[in-house]
Amino acid sequence: MLDRHGLLLKHKLGQNFLVQDHVIQGILELAELQEDDVVYEIGPGIGTLTVAMLPRVRRVVAVEADRTLPPVLAETCARDGERLSLIPGDALRVAPKTLVEAAGTEPTKLVSNLPYQVAATVILDALEHMPSIRRLVVMVQAEVADRIAAKPGSKAYGAYTAKLALYGRVTGRFEVGPGNFMPPPHVNSAVVRIDRRDDVPNDATEVAQVIDAAFAQRRKTIRNSMSARGYEKDVLDAAFAAAGIDPRTRAESLAPEEFVRLMQELQRTCFDSSSKS
Ligand code: SAM
Repeated sequence: MLDRHGLLLKHKLGQNFLVQDHVIQGILELAELQEDDVVYEIGPGIGTLTVAMLPRVRRVVAVEADRTLPPVLAETCARDGERLSLIPGDALRVAPKTLVEAAGTEPTKLVSNLPYQVAATVILDALEHMPSIRRLVVMVQAEVADRIAAKPGSKAYGAYTAKLALYGRVTGRFEVGPGNFMPPPHVNSAVVRIDRRDDVPNDATEVAQVIDAAFAQRRKTIRNSMSARGYEKDVLDAAFAAAGIDPRTRAESLAPEEFVRLMQELQRTCFDSSSKS
């Protein structure tokens, strides 16, 4: 297909195209697509996954950075082309509003073989800014999948894991070796399924700020890391005590719900001290 269109693969755009049907099948099984689903796809490439999704859903809205690919996609997706909305451009710069305008409605799922350079960012972005997306089924580098699913206290657990866990739970995963792509990447990959939580905290953005401060200096105690980020030590001490968190602990050993508690106690402590003064 690429030869016929006179196109070359672009390494800098993470163009490792899927060439194995059983991987597509595995993605579809995890996605559990419904006929009223509106799927957001980042990087449809030459449409291998897109073609498989189009007949199963109401619409696919896809963002593709490589401006030479739309004619190829028009050909591969011709059969169900009326269900495809294609936005040329960089997914990192496409506003949710643009997606909704192009699709005519809000996306319900994100299903993609993601370009690895932007994978971690777009996943958290979709969870934070597109609440209509209830499920993500994404192919990522295995190392990113490990960070997404990491447990507190493990090496892979970090600010990214804790922030993502405020919004979603990992409910599925399978491994994908390099031989399933053309050209084969130098790393192992994995497909992960993330389901949006029903109990996303209202103040998730504020909790994310606390998480960033707690992990800012990963080797330091949480008290030192957060005070280096501008939190007052006496406010921190009061909040740690009220939240039942040892100030000598490191951020990597705290579960996401402990960060939620800490943020609530920080707000309470600040409110109490400002109402006394
Ligand atoms: N979905 C196809 C498949 O499974 O064979 C292609 C997947 S390939 C790993 C990643 C695709 O994302 C490529 O088509 C690439 O051009 C596109 N891409 C890379 N960076 C992008 C970005 N920032 N925004 C949108 N698309 C991007």
